[in-house]
Amino acid sequence: MYPLRFRIIILVFILLFFGIIVRLFQLQVIESEIYQGISHRRRIATTLLETTRGSIFDRNGKVLAVDQPTFDVSVLFKNLLHCYLNRTEQPYPFTSLKIHEDEKKQCRECRENQDVWLERLSQLLGIPQAELLNNTRQIIEKVERLKQSVERRAGKKVRIKEEIDYHPVVADIPWEKVIQIETRQADFPGIRIVPRLKRVYPEQKLASHILGYIGKLTMEEWREYREAWNNYVLASTGAETLSLLYDGYMENDNLGRDGIEAQYEEELRGMRGKRFEEITYKSSQMERVIVERPSISGNDVYLTLDSRIQAYAEKSLGTHAGSVIVVDPRTGEILAMANNPRFNPNTISEDFNRLINNPSKPFLNRAIQGALPPGSIFKAITAIAPLSSGVLNTQTAFECHGYVRHRNVTLRCASRNGHGLISLEDAITYSCNVFFYEVAKAFGRDIFYDYARLFGIGERTGIDLPHERSGNMPQVTATIPAMNIAIGQGRLLTTPLQMVRVYAAIANGGTLVQPHVLSKVINSQGEVIRRFEATYNQKLPIHPSILNSIQASLRDVVTRGTARGKGLHLYKAAGKTGTAETGRKGDYHSWFVGYAPYDNPRYCFIVLVEHTPKSSAEIACPIAAELLSYLFPEAHRAS
Ligand SMILES: [Zn+2]
Ligand SMILES: [Zn+2]
Repeated sequence: MYPLRFRIIILVFILLFFGIIVRLFQLQVIESEIYQGISHRRRIATTLLETTRGSIFDRNGKVLAVDQPTFDVSVLFKNLLHCYLNRTEQPYPFTSLKIHEDEKKQCRECRENQDVWLERLSQLLGIPQAELLNNTRQIIEKVERLKQSVERRAGKKVRIKEEIDYHPVVADIPWEKVIQIETRQADFPGIRIVPRLKRVYPEQKLASHILGYIGKLTMEEWREYREAWNNYVLASTGAETLSLLYDGYMENDNLGRDGIEAQYEEELRGMRGKRFEEITYKSSQMERVIVERPSISGNDVYLTLDSRIQAYAEKSLGTHAGSVIVVDPRTGEILAMANNPRFNPNTISEDFNRLINNPSKPFLNRAIQGALPPGSIFKAITAIAPLSSGVLNTQTAFECHGYVRHRNVTLRCASRNGHGLISLEDAITYSCNVFFYEVAKAFGRDIFYDYARLFGIGERTGIDLPHERSGNMPQVTATIPAMNIAIGQGRLLTTPLQMVRVYAAIANGGTLVQPHVLSKVINSQGEVIRRFEATYNQKLPIHPSILNSIQASLRDVVTRGTARGKGLHLYKAAGKTGTAETGRKGDYHSWFVGYAPYDNPRYCFIVLVEHTPKSSAEIACPIAAELLSYLFPEAHRAS
């Protein structure tokens, strides 16, 4: 799957890792006088070990998120401090760091060695010295803050681990530079290459709302987790182990912030191993015992998503704000969930502030978080309700003159001149508002409520993604609001996912399936440890003959109704148009929801374009047709 070059990088990464362990040993044994100053007779140090976050794959095994090695350049703290103090005119801003004073006693050669990193790194990496010094300042301030808080707690002056440690000054340096530094170590005193794992999303913006992104643990979260785990180990004075005491997360760790990365954080994150080092001094001889608990890699997560369908759904949606969902109506598996606008999870740390303030809301997963009036696509429910409760049959007809009056309010049909005498089947096919107004008027205000709830309107579907919204199914007590809800307007709000699930139930013969994106979880040994299990797949109490007649109407929408002439018939699609009013003139939400092939549905899909002057037939139907041309290439070629 990966080219040879990538495998070489991994190999070097592993070698470097061992190199660091060796250096750690050097640091602690050869420079053990540093430790003697701070330790007593016996000392136990613990170190959390690296772990790899699990990868995310689509249903065909395509990698959507993976940890890849990258390299940072770290510099020894005393060199950072030395250089910063020499190069900046500002007076030393800190009070408790005493290393500088100690350094005055050192020989001249040594001090020059401490300075050299700045020029060499600046030259090698082409980064201005001022920029490196700025990073240096941030590191010094951070260490100073940490030291002060440790000292406050300890009630005395202490030297913390960070003061004798290496700190990353430049992140993510190119491979050629890694080689130069590693092979010319004498030229780079006090400089060390630190391998780090970076989360990479190879498909860039593809499915970004589903995958989500990762972000650094905040101080508050770190505190919370560390208390929650309550997993203290036997520690020495506590000072130098402060940031390494706990299982799970380390202070600067990442965790899933949204999407799958957040939803399956527990599966993905893996467990850090821990190294315990006990150092004892016997008559100035140092003995060390090392016990290590190895790391456990995170589990891999396989999604139901088909990245090819996802890519095509995103392409079909184009630059419109909105959403496209493709689901398997038999299983509830999400094959695609496209949203626009999107974000690139690879560059989230740089882009976050710009994105979060963007009025077009690129972080919004419109498919599950956009709660909007569904308009006429709701009419499937307003037809099933009176049919199921027996107040109506498919032959029942009302007269449409293009409008209805109730008291002093006039409500209009999409057809200005009216549809004439129209039956329920044709009322769906031609999307007659008046028919459904009349139903609401004649058969009571609450006739739709129970059935809408049955179809899950106004509650979360329970999809395994964070921050799903429930929409709103209002229980109305007056006739006019009921008439508005009958045509999918008023205070009725639904998410695209809710509505595509309604049509999946119609397509599959009346089972409300649980939509989901997880397919299976595989551990680091390659064993399947979990498959997605639906907690509900509910058979709705709707008579098959009623579903059959709704299905026939939806089929007619494509062949002779409101979606006629849009190419959808080529794919044997059935469905419903909807152009929902937003309260602003010339501004609509355009919907199309349907399934194909109508006689044996394999795909159920929904298209939403938000805030457009165009009707469903003008914008949502062509997008649906383009999507279907990809799902059914044979049908397309035959045409
Ligand atoms: Zn010296
Ligand atoms: Zn009408």
